[in-house]
Amino acid sequence: MKEYSRKRILVTGGAGFLGSHLCERLVTAGHDVLCVDNFYTGTKDNIAHLLDAPNFEMMRHDVTFPLYVEVDEIYNLACPASPVHYQQDPVQTTKTSVHGAINLLGLAKRVKARILQASTSEVYGDPSVHPQHEQYWGNVNPIGVRSCYDEGKRCAETLFADYYRQHRVDIRIARIFNTYGPRMHPADGRVVSNFITQALAGEALTVYGDGTQTRSFCYVDDLVDGLIRLMEAPSPFAEPVNLGNAAEVTIGEIAREVIRVTGARVPIQHASLPADDPRQRCPDLTLAARRLGWSPATTLADGLARTVRYFVQRAAPSVHRPPGGPSGVPADVQQRAVSAAPARVGQAGERAQQVRA
Ligand code: NAD
Ligand code: UDP
Repeated sequence: MKEYSRKRILVTGGAGFLGSHLCERLVTAGHDVLCVDNFYTGTKDNIAHLLDAPNFEMMRHDVTFPLYVEVDEIYNLACPASPVHYQQDPVQTTKTSVHGAINLLGLAKRVKARILQASTSEVYGDPSVHPQHEQYWGNVNPIGVRSCYDEGKRCAETLFADYYRQHRVDIRIARIFNTYGPRMHPADGRVVSNFITQALAGEALTVYGDGTQTRSFCYVDDLVDGLIRLMEAPSPFAEPVNLGNAAEVTIGEIAREVIRVTGARVPIQHASLPADDPRQRCPDLTLAARRLGWSPATTLADGLARTVRYFVQRAAPSVHRPPGGPSGVPADVQQRAVSAAPARVGQAGERAQQVRA
């Protein structure tokens, strides 16, 4: 990479699911990457393969406290994303979004860095407009169990918009819709990781409610492409942009697709629907296509197969253990899942090899 195009890039939440993929992509592109994380939901394992790279650095830090570093770009991803995790300590969740945004916008203003906020489709709440376009203001309960996340992210968007209007900080806002892929935490409670973990363990898949609620799932590699394109788009670019995949499916359909891809012979079990669970979710991606020339490329079947393969490999014993032993994945299910998933899943690892080389 030419010296003038090599940037110093801060990724907060860089040890999490999305953050670790983003760090990997930026390190591979030759940038100097500083990953900041307090390991609330992220893990050192997610970034272990990057630690030897001379252009990667890790700092344990909580974004609710100010940070003083010299950087050219900031991707602000720090915030637990799974309802199970963000509801565990809701006050900290709001603080992470709000104080985190204030601290990082202050940093961006001081060092004149471009800054991107990982916002969310949750700003639309339980939407009455479908699919959701960026002009829709949303339908969010301000005092419900999801509010710490939804309203925290909405307030962060407000702060970003005001730092742009008041201080001309070069901002970007990505409204990210449900994203899945390798490195989702198996215990983080999100639907794709839950279903895959359950299927591989030979357990019933827990569909909340009647399973007719919808979501639209984007594969992580596509999403990371979108984030980088948004960051690299010419200034000014202050309006929020949806990033996701417009292929809308019901949760019941996702359950059946996971059963198909894993080859598991497991039933579907219904459980009660969590409070304020949105009925439907699907992005209108017109703006992303027009302004970024971006649209997702990975089909659900392909993305799920790669994700399943990751979970199988993650659970596989590193030394020989009896079949169906402590890995928790019965040997026959492992075998069926590995042969069902295409070999491309190793992509992340392959990129890491390139980084080390
Ligand atoms: P994740 O939980 O895997 O990653 C979040 C990371 O932020 C973790 O590494 C965690 O340790 C770190 N973190 C949390 N609080 C922090 C704090 N106070 N200081 C420093 N680090 C902190 O979640 P993810 O799926 O990778 O999501 C990343 C970002 O993208 C989040 O901001 C999330 O709101 C947003 N997002 C994700 C999705 C999705 O489907 N994955 C959808 C919409 C928005
Ligand atoms: N869900 C489910 N079973 C699970 C986990 C989640 O049926 O084991 C449902 C959940 O109620 C919601 C959808 O799947 O309707 C997506 O949930 P997730 O937590 O992944 O994301 P979010 O609700 O934040 O979009």
